[in-house]
Amino acid sequence: MPTVWVLGAGQLGAMLKQAAYPLALDVVPIEPDSEHLPDIADHDIVTVEREQWPDTAVTRHLSSQVGFMNADIFGKIADRFHQKTMLDTLGINTAPWRSVELDTKAEALHAELGPDVLLKRREGGYDGKGQYWLYEDQGDEVPSDWQGTGIAEKKIPFNEELSLVGARDKDGNKVFYPLTLNLHSNGILMASVAPLARVAHLQPMAESMLSKIMDSANYIGVMAMECFRVGEQLIVNELAPRVHNSGHWTQAGACVSQFEMHLRAVSGLPIKAPEVRGQSVMINLIGVERELSWMEVPSSQSYWYGKDVRPGRKLGHININHPQKKAVQLALSTLRKQLPDNYNDVFDWVDKELKRI
Ligand code: ADP
Ligand code: MG
Repeated sequence: MPTVWVLGAGQLGAMLKQAAYPLALDVVPIEPDSEHLPDIADHDIVTVEREQWPDTAVTRHLSSQVGFMNADIFGKIADRFHQKTMLDTLGINTAPWRSVELDTKAEALHAELGPDVLLKRREGGYDGKGQYWLYEDQGDEVPSDWQGTGIAEKKIPFNEELSLVGARDKDGNKVFYPLTLNLHSNGILMASVAPLARVAHLQPMAESMLSKIMDSANYIGVMAMECFRVGEQLIVNELAPRVHNSGHWTQAGACVSQFEMHLRAVSGLPIKAPEVRGQSVMINLIGVERELSWMEVPSSQSYWYGKDVRPGRKLGHININHPQKKAVQLALSTLRKQLPDNYNDVFDWVDKELKRI
């Protein structure tokens, strides 16, 4: 079997490594600033846990291998200008946008995109970082450090945020997980719920959108598509050419997790439509100190990434899964007592969504 090298050594690389054991694959995450150049064989695979990376000796080495998967996609997706251009070219619904050039004025952006405009850095943004709201009624100007470095988007008055995680193999076969409902707070994913019968009718539309994107790029592996639901329409917010936080629930709630699915696809092993079991809820652990009591929550898996605790930082997640919704609700009520008060809104949202199921 080939070794699968992962560009990036954060939690996604670690969870790919965890998923590799049943496949007897050796998965080796690599830090972009590592001093040591790994010895990569021609039949090895190189994949990524991030869509952009600093230019270092190691990242140059990894990305120049014959086994570097989806080499062409990162230029198209990592830069929002190219990603939005690709979506427009494919005729896929996305938030109306325009490029922020060196001479772009707020007035012109409002004339085209409305009173509330969201600036997003072309590169490097994540977890809501790299965003800036321009409000017409406050007379905001485009800050000088945004000129030539961003895109501007129309504010989408969405009903909710849904994401689709899918995978494509080298022969073009595709499989998908059910649409996942996501709650973001200040741009950071806080919780996901899946599956959800009330959005199942949107699944074919979402699958055909992501299929078109993956097929057009001849993509191999897992890709995630973040969407806004506006009425019965799906509007693509952004794409991630990798495993994705909104797919973490598949570790507990599907017969093949997104991590194993990605490894199967990139290493030429069979992929299959993942049967989903029971009800899943994922809670992200953001900026909180570790509590061992989380490990006692019934029907749960807890993941702690071993990173330094900082406000707003993703430090771990907890998957709750059970065939019966009532058991999931019970587990959530236990976990609610163990997380800080600022999580109350998150639990209220999940409770409300579970009641609607
Ligand atoms: P990131 O790379 O930080 O995830 P996103 O583009 O996904 O960047 O934006 C983060 C969050 O900001 C989204 O999940 C959504 O809640 C909000 N957001 C992004 N774009 C828009 C928009 N055009 N209108 C309204 N809200 C938006
Ligand atoms: Mg996002």
